[in-house]
Amino acid sequence: MRLFRCDNCGNPVHFDNRTCISCGMRLGFAPEALCMHTLQPAGELWARVDSPTLKYRFCPNAGIDVCNWLIAASSTESFCQACRYNGLVPDAKTPQGLRRWRAIGEAQRHLFYSFLRWDLPRPGRREDPQGLLFDLKDDEILPDGSCKPVLIGHDEGHIVIRTAEADDLTREQQRELMNEPYRTLLGHFRHETGHFIWNRMVRDTGKFDGFRAVFGDERADYGQAVDAHYKQGPPAGWGSHYISYYATTHPWEDFAECFAHVLHIVDSLETAHIYGIALAPLGHQEMTAFADFDPYTVLDFDRIADVWIPLSVALNSIHHSMGERDLYPFILTPAIKAKLKYVHSLITRQV
Ligand SMILES: [Zn+2]
Ligand SMILES: [Zn+2]
Repeated sequence: MRLFRCDNCGNPVHFDNRTCISCGMRLGFAPEALCMHTLQPAGELWARVDSPTLKYRFCPNAGIDVCNWLIAASSTESFCQACRYNGLVPDAKTPQGLRRWRAIGEAQRHLFYSFLRWDLPRPGRREDPQGLLFDLKDDEILPDGSCKPVLIGHDEGHIVIRTAEADDLTREQQRELMNEPYRTLLGHFRHETGHFIWNRMVRDTGKFDGFRAVFGDERADYGQAVDAHYKQGPPAGWGSHYISYYATTHPWEDFAECFAHVLHIVDSLETAHIYGIALAPLGHQEMTAFADFDPYTVLDFDRIADVWIPLSVALNSIHHSMGERDLYPFILTPAIKAKLKYVHSLITRQV
């Protein structure tokens, strides 16, 4: 993620900021330019302080402080480029619903930042009956008072996100239960949209041979594979070929996990690049690393991995110094790197 600057006072500004903490002026993110702008009121609209003729509306979800994205004044769209895919949303009239929606919205906009950087396919339901649609769903309370949790998932562009996972307690419980080292809202968005990208960029373009050579045959029965996954557990030695236990379930899940990881890695590396974070550990030249490039524009995934691997080791160590778990609790073996490389070459249109 980039670091931005207030157009009014020059103070550093972050992607999710609403106002500049130095000068107090209103901020909004313009997805077309991938830029934060400092704004002043201009009648019903908002004008950029550095170019007052350029005017915007805020996304309607900014009215309840769920979103900070802008819509060009000339646009006929009602919602911003992230919120426009929403179907069901949490009840903003309750404190719980609002809190959950704010956390989910932040992850959703972060996801779309990556989609915009790579210009990934993202039709909505108006353009395509199998386009993207997000339902942010609450768990069902059954007549006996018990709770039926929502299943997170993807089906032909329709993505369901469980709003209860915006609560740290619920999400951590689920992480423990599933024996996962990492579970976040952003991870859910990146994984589920990975299924959509597979449909669009592998299935609908007929790139099956290249996909199967790396991930295996996705024609294996999905229902049986999921059943076997939960009944039999993972294959022995899975960690050398799969980025996560869940990725072992089926080639579709493996792809979605790898897609999520390419986004985790490239976005984190962009942040390191923007801050100029470099590794030059004394006596450990083998860990020297510096992202002297914008990883969203790099085509060679090896360059990305060569910096990310030592950087993630250092970041994990810093987390341990704070008594936290690994920031990136995953190991990129050569076989896993080859999968990430394929996904990266697919989304950067090299295959
Ligand atoms: Zn400012
Ligand atoms: Zn919005």
